[in-house]
Order: sequence, then structure tokens, then C-alpha cells
Amino acid sequence: MPTIQKLPPGLVNKIAAGEVIERPASVVKELLENSIDAGANSVELTIEGGGMELIRLSDNGCGIEPEQIPLALASHATSKLRTADDLFDVHTLGFRGEALASIAEVSHLLLRSRTADSQAGCEVQVRGGVAEAPQPAGCPVGTTIEVRHLFFNTPVRRKFLRSAQTEANHIVEAFTRIALAFPNVHAKLLTGSRVTMELPPTDSWKQRIGAFFGGEIADSLMTVESQQDQVRLSGYVADPSVSRSNNRMQYLFLNGRFIRDRTLQHALSEAYRGLLMTGRFPVCFLKLDMPADMVDVNVHPTKMEVRFLEGGKLYSQLLQALRHQFLTTDLTARAKPNPGPLPAGLRDVQPSVALGMSPQPAAQNDARWQDHSDRMSSVAGRTGMLDLQPSVPSFRPFPTTGTLSINRNVSTGGLNSLPSIPSDLPTATAQPASHMELPPVATPWQPDLEPDAPPANDELATKQDFIQHGPHSAFGQPVSAGPGMTGIQIHNRYLVTQDDQGLVVVDQHALHERILYEQLRQRVENQNLESQRLLMPEPIDLTPAEAAAAIESRDILAKIGIEVEAFGGDTVLMTSYPAMLANMRPAEVLRQVLEPLMSGGQQPSAREVLDELLHMLACKAAIKAGDRLSADEITTLLEQRYHFQDTHHCPHGRPTALFFTRDQLDKMFKRT
Ligand code: ADP
Ligand code: MG
Repeated sequence: MPTIQKLPPGLVNKIAAGEVIERPASVVKELLENSIDAGANSVELTIEGGGMELIRLSDNGCGIEPEQIPLALASHATSKLRTADDLFDVHTLGFRGEALASIAEVSHLLLRSRTADSQAGCEVQVRGGVAEAPQPAGCPVGTTIEVRHLFFNTPVRRKFLRSAQTEANHIVEAFTRIALAFPNVHAKLLTGSRVTMELPPTDSWKQRIGAFFGGEIADSLMTVESQQDQVRLSGYVADPSVSRSNNRMQYLFLNGRFIRDRTLQHALSEAYRGLLMTGRFPVCFLKLDMPADMVDVNVHPTKMEVRFLEGGKLYSQLLQALRHQFLTTDLTARAKPNPGPLPAGLRDVQPSVALGMSPQPAAQNDARWQDHSDRMSSVAGRTGMLDLQPSVPSFRPFPTTGTLSINRNVSTGGLNSLPSIPSDLPTATAQPASHMELPPVATPWQPDLEPDAPPANDELATKQDFIQHGPHSAFGQPVSAGPGMTGIQIHNRYLVTQDDQGLVVVDQHALHERILYEQLRQRVENQNLESQRLLMPEPIDLTPAEAAAAIESRDILAKIGIEVEAFGGDTVLMTSYPAMLANMRPAEVLRQVLEPLMSGGQQPSAREVLDELLHMLACKAAIKAGDRLSADEITTLLEQRYHFQDTHHCPHGRPTALFFTRDQLDKMFKRT
């Protein structure tokens, strides 16, 4: 018969530590929260070895009375709650009275503290939960807690830790969240003896956001303000031109506490629907303030998730506030971020093929697009690479060499100093000279419209023609496209063709994206991507976590032609850059490449990082839905699909084509 017995306090604490203290960053979070609760307006955090060797936090808060220190270190002892009712009216970040006991159980902890009205301080050492007698100590008013050898007695937990750098990244994130929530607090972070971040106190939230994430983010912020009953929503959302490939830049604070909330994240993406490309996430810094009894913060040991009394109302408040903001802002006009200096070295990149590729403004309401095109013209203008011609150039996705181009010259046909994939790529088409001006597809389906004519005209022409000439001629002459290959474009987005089995409908963007991706991959497999040494290395400001990831992953980055060096603070110096990316901002590319490196999980391999980059390139360079293609372009595109392994899906996994077999068609027409 199993016997039931009370667990010894040490084991209870270890179990609690398992919940609350997952990694060094959890210690940092708990200590910082305690300092804030103690009323500190200055905190200094020092870490060594990713926090695994040392975490030291000094604050100038109220301090702890000497006789209270053992209690502070005991489990279920807190100065922040008195009665059960208080649990539903929490005004402090902590209240469970568990953190210090948990940390002390699994580390060597030293606590030194002094209150304003005591002459001297007092210090206590605890090793694995065993405390020594308190000693008097000389120290300023406030509290210092030192945590060494974290998880020394819980080897399993230790095994789960990542590299010092990854743990440091998590710490930086914990520090960032608190420092963002409390801009009035002077916050300093040291790695060893090096000051990595110092944030002077400020009343301006935007200023603090800018201190962390740089001017580009800060400048893109739009104010959000809304008050409904007792709930106040305030802060900023970023212009849609500034988005991220994950939701880590969504900072949501509830009564000063950083939280993650699925419902609110959903409201956010709803509000941005149609403004962002798929797979992109909005950036926001939002504060929610409400009476403490309207939310239950005691549902999660680290209090990162909370339960709202009126979640539904909150959802609509956020959605409404953002929609109102977007409706009253001219996003297109706003989306003109400072393009930043073009790296001097890139001005010397010579194109291997002159390209004249330009989209139709199919995505006119896409602020990202606008942003890109503004940027291109401004970069080009400043570097004197072209004379800007007002005319909309013709759209030619494939250059003379017969290879698919990866460059997408946005604003004019003249910005031709963009490199392309060299012509040693396998190429399918024997069609020459598709680079020349080509006649539009000679079908009523494809009237000879101005390239920027609205798609509605297309449809009109189609219908009229259908009425006048009957169904057959509505299709016009199918484009003859090489042996056994015919195809027509419909609605400037789909290509309809046949294979020996039946009818095929192709998504032009998805297919082109897939083909470009495969070409790039082959190119990389055969030899390294060409990279360009910059004559003038380019300094790039990053967030602390990004800077750390960039330096730690220098070798992987070098494989894809990006070479960076530490440059002091959170700035890195880019000395070399992939030649084919000359039309994109190095800082933007670097940030995107760094994102998968910072995911905190297993370090991605060079191959995975490279793959991410290739996906990004292919997507940016591919023709879009809405781009009108010439007959030859249609042919080339359709032919290319036989030359690559998996052209049935775009790199995002969406299908590139739908197939209807003849049998299926026969069935649908009730012929069988
Ligand atoms: P909680 O924060 O949930 O109360 P902790 O274990 O984190 O539990 O802390 C226990 C107590 O120790 C706190 O309630 C507080 O009174 C005291 N304390 C902890 N850190 C500090 C600090 N930096 N300054 C002043 N008091 C502190
Ligand atoms: Mg606490």
C-alpha cells in the first residue's frame, strides 16, 4: 500500500522552481519584477555566461528589514498579499511569494539589502536552499541579489539550457519587457564588465521604444488611444510597412505586466488584414490599463497569461481602435521610411544582365509595396543610377539570356544596375529575346490595355467580347507556346493550359516563386552565392538580441555571403553582402535573416537559414498576381515548370496549379 507523506520543504521548492524558473531569463524576470515592486527607479543587471554563471541585480528600492530577510527567502512568504480577496485585486507584479525561495533552492544566492532607516545593511547566503546566518554588511539603500551556478543541483534542468548566447538573448528579452513597461526606471545591463545597454529614465514611451528598436520602428509608430468604461488602451502600432515574420515584436502590457494573449493577438491581425502580406505580423506596443479586479492574473505560474473578465469586449475595443486609426491615416503616404544609406560598396555592383522588370500596380493598396517602390526610386535617385522616367515601363519577367530574373525593378525601367542570377543556370526555354518589347497576348481575354489599367476593364472586355462573339472566340487564339504547350492568362493572375491528362490552372505568382527558388537553390549548391565586398562597410543598428545573434552566427552568415563584425554596442558592421540583393536594404535583409537565428530553440543549420533567405528572395522577386504577362512570358513560365522538381507547390506550400483530368471533366459534363 503506498504511504502518503508530506513533502520536505526543499522538494516543494524544487517543484515550484520547476514551474517558475525555467532558465536564467526567468530569474532575471522575477528579480526585476521584485525591484519594480520595491519602488526602485534605477536597476542594474549584470550577467555572465548567459546568466548561468552569474546574474546580479542591484536596485535602489525600499530594501528589506534585516529580520525580514529570512522570510523573503522562505516559500509562500510575501509582503504583497494579505487576504484571499487580495488575490483578485493585485497591484504588484509579484504576489505568489515563491520566486526567491525557488531561485535560492536551485542556485548559490546572496541577498544584500538595506532600508532607508537602518544604519547598515544585512546579507544572507543560501546554497541549494540551505541558508547561512545573516551577516551585517555595508551597502547603499536598496537590494542586491546575486545568483550563481544556477541549476547546480538540478542537472536535468541544466541539460535543457542552450548556449550562453541563446540564454543571454532570452535575458535581454526579459530585460526589454520590463524596461519597456517602466520607461521611468533607469535600466542598465552589463555583460561581464561591459555595459550592453543603458536606458536613461524618460517620460516618453516612444523614446524608450526607439532606444531598444531604433529610429525606423519609432518613426513608423501610430498612436492608439481608446477608453471604454474602465478600460484604457494606449500606445502604438507600427505602420504596415514595418512588419515582422513572427509575433515577437508584439508587446502587450496589462497594468504594467507583459502578457501574451491569443485573443488580443488575433484582434491585431484582424485589424491588419489586407495591409500585410501573408506570413507577416504587425509590430505593436500597447498598454492596457484596467481595474485589477477585472482580470485574474493567477492562472499561470509566470503570470504571462491572464484571464480577462470581459475578453470579448476587450477584443472589440482593440479591433475598433486600430481600425479607426487605420481609417484616419493615409497609410500610403505614411509608408515612406527613411531608406537609410545605401552601402557605398553596392554602388559598384555591376549588373550581369540589364533588366527591365516592373510590376503593374496591382497591389496599390499594399503599403509594403508602396514602401518598396518609394525606396527603390529614392535609393536610385540618390545614387544617380538612373534618370527617372515617369512612364510605366513594360513588364518583362524574363531577361534575354533566357534565365529567370530574380530582380524586380519597381519604380522605373531604368534602374538597371541590379544584378541577376548569372546565365549558367539551367534554362528551359529556347525562346529568344523575350526581353524585347513583346506584343500582348492576342486574345480578347487580354485586350491591349495600358499596363496599369484597372483589372475591372479586363473583366468588362471579356464579358463584352463573350456576348458579341460567343464563347469560342472569347478564348481567342490560344497562345502557341512551343511543342505541345499552350497557355492563356486570365484575370492577370492565372494561366490556363493543358497537359496530356487534362486541364491545368496555374497560379502565376506561386509558380514563378517556386521556379526562382529552385534556381537559386541550384545555384547555391553548385557554388557559393556571389558576394560583394563593400568598399565602405555599412554600420547597422540592431536590437541587442539581434546583434548578439549576428555575431554568434557569423560563420553561417558568411556562407550566404553576409559578413559582419562587432562594432560596439548593438551596431554591427557589414563588410560583405550578397551581390544579388543589391536592390534590398542590407539592414532589412540582415534582420530577416537573423530572425530564425533568434528563435531560442535549436540553432537552425546554415542550410535552414539559407533556405529562409532563398524563400524570401524568391517571393520578393516573383511576378505578382495582377502582373500582365506577354505570350512569351507565359510560355517560358509554363515550360519552366517541367524543369524543376517540386513546382506543384510554391515554397510556402500553397499549390501552384490545379489539375482537372479529362475524366473528371467528362464526368462533370455528364459525358460518362
Ligand atoms: P513575491 O514577489 O511574489 O512577493 P518573492 O519571492 O519574489 O515573492 O519575494 C518575496 C518578498 O521579498 C517580496 O514580497 C518582498 O517583500 C521581498 N523582496 C524581494 N525582492 C525585493 C527587492 N528587490 N526589494 C525589496 N523587497 C524585496
Ligand atoms: Mg517576486
